Amino acid sequence: MQRRTPIRKCVGCGSRRDKIELLRIVNNQDEIKIDPGGKLPGRGAYLCPNLQCLEKAHKKNSLSRALKKKISDDIYESISEEIKHD
Ligand SMILES: [Zn+2]
Repeated sequence: MQRRTPIRKCVGCGSRRDKIELLRIVNNQDEIKIDPGGKLPGRGAYLCPNLQCLEKAHKKNSLSRALKKKISDDIYESISEEIKHD
């Protein structure tokens, strides 16, 4: 059977993976939210669900650039909690 999952790029390591394997972070009406279901409207960025990629995205500021918004430490903390819970 043909796979139809869209491919997205992780803002941490830059690898391309199936969208469903990645954690979506969204700029939803100028608020940064974690969107595990991929349902929220807005500009989205994708991250492999692991702390190494989150760390890379933090250091390179690539999450912030992808979402066109400054990401606070609180947000990074919530994302890391989300990853740990998975
Ligand atoms: Zn990654």
